Amino acid sequence: MKQFLSALLFFISISVLGQTFTIQDTLRGSITPERAWWDLTYYNLQVEVKPDERFISGSNTIRYIVLEESQLMQIDLQPPLKIEKIIQNEKELSFTSEGNAHFIQLNKKQNKGKEYEVTVYFSGKPREAIRAPWDGGFSWSRDSNGKHFIATSNQGIGASIWWPNKDHYYDEPEKGIDISVTVPIDLVAVSNGRLITIEENPETKTWHWRVINPINNYGVNINIGDYIHFGETYNGEEGNLDMDYYVLRENKAKARKQFKQAPKMMEAFEYWFGPYPFYEDSFKLVEVPYLGMEHQSSITYGNKYKNGYMGRDLSSTGWGLKFDFIIIHESGHEWFANNITHIDVADMWIHEGFTAYSENLYLDYHFGKKASSEYVIGTRKSIRNDRPIIGTYHVNKEGSGDMYSKGANILHTLRQLIEDDEKWRQILRDLNSTYYHQTVSSKEIEDCLSDLTGIDLTEFWDQYLRTTMVPIVEYKVINNVLSFRYVYIIENFDMPVIVIINGKEEWIFPTSEWKTKAFTDDIKSAKIKEDFYVRSEQVLD
Ligand SMILES: [Zn+2]
Repeated sequence: MKQFLSALLFFISISVLGQTFTIQDTLRGSITPERAWWDLTYYNLQVEVKPDERFISGSNTIRYIVLEESQLMQIDLQPPLKIEKIIQNEKELSFTSEGNAHFIQLNKKQNKGKEYEVTVYFSGKPREAIRAPWDGGFSWSRDSNGKHFIATSNQGIGASIWWPNKDHYYDEPEKGIDISVTVPIDLVAVSNGRLITIEENPETKTWHWRVINPINNYGVNINIGDYIHFGETYNGEEGNLDMDYYVLRENKAKARKQFKQAPKMMEAFEYWFGPYPFYEDSFKLVEVPYLGMEHQSSITYGNKYKNGYMGRDLSSTGWGLKFDFIIIHESGHEWFANNITHIDVADMWIHEGFTAYSENLYLDYHFGKKASSEYVIGTRKSIRNDRPIIGTYHVNKEGSGDMYSKGANILHTLRQLIEDDEKWRQILRDLNSTYYHQTVSSKEIEDCLSDLTGIDLTEFWDQYLRTTMVPIVEYKVINNVLSFRYVYIIENFDMPVIVIINGKEEWIFPTSEWKTKAFTDDIKSAKIKEDFYVRSEQVLD
């Protein structure tokens, strides 16, 4: 067995190392020396969108504090967009380019601890998203009245697909971002945060939006259409929260009905995860021509006003049709993705595992524990165990798509181990307050959960996040005696599980060695409780 395991681990490491990464992957995915010396404090992004020409132009003023003195700064912007010029202290700066990365030579001495700003002007026809939100870029669409209906999405490919910025997750502008979007006069532009002013120009309007909290780059978005607005005030844990909805004129009635789930979502998630993390910036749902995305404080929505995932139940249990997948899932990301943000995309399960898990906590809150268990167990059918959940660090490479439903099932398993739902809820709330508005690694989350639960979870995380092995409990039954052990595990994996013997629940503590447990009566039926993400196999002597 041991030989087999090491052979398997060898295979896993080769298959990861076997992937080839380019210099561009490293420039994008690592904290390069040209990024490390400065700390982002604020962005002021101004962009004009010309829908008929599918052309954009604008500028981004980047404010930063100098951590270590340096004169060379990396900014990212992806072709075909071009940098027109870069200005600091009213003087144009020179720069060199290496693919998507641009290295600006700063003239002025950058004094440690001081704050400076640099403005990057850019223009061009941005990449079009063909399969938004998965490939990313601009979606140029039309509503049924023939009016422009436009949105950006850029998870994975990076925010630098449409605007110049420091395109890495580790650094967020602490003071937020101002976003001004200029569009034809008959259209509405919706971005993140709050609407500050609308400037009327002869043929255009400029919509000024402001986010005052830290924000991850991929969460910044602009959406343009013939929107109508409605909203409500939600009385939440931190007082009154503005919840605003922007939808196409033609969908107003459908939206008024479907978006009744938004305050229900807020109620369930504040209960489980703690206060909504961006009261100052409000909460919004914004209709878009693609499925949806967790853009911070402006969750984008394109689920066709249907429950489920475009009308489908991902769990095949019926419970998945009790809620609108995009309203619930994408909003769950406000806590896990926007509040707690991964520092490297290799740890993307922090976003998708916890958020996939949030779907069943929504069910738990509104439909009870049985519904939640059945749902999360139902989603196991999509787990492939093809690659580990954790990806490759420093090269912008995420792990397996199993980060969603396997991630959710790992957390559901952990809930069983804690055996105290109120404690589990406090732990989830503690996570959100401990890492409030921060970027973190999976390791930090893992260690924090070991501390908060009081259980050393080292092998638990390594087994589930870093291998593709699902532990197997092998067992034998002889009269009233149950023998059991784990196979297909890493060294020292010893997670206890509940076994149901003759209909009664009992904890057992399997390891890689055979153990026995005697019961009073002969064992007529034995099975591992389904809530644990393990497999079991009866071994016949
Ligand atoms: Zn997600």
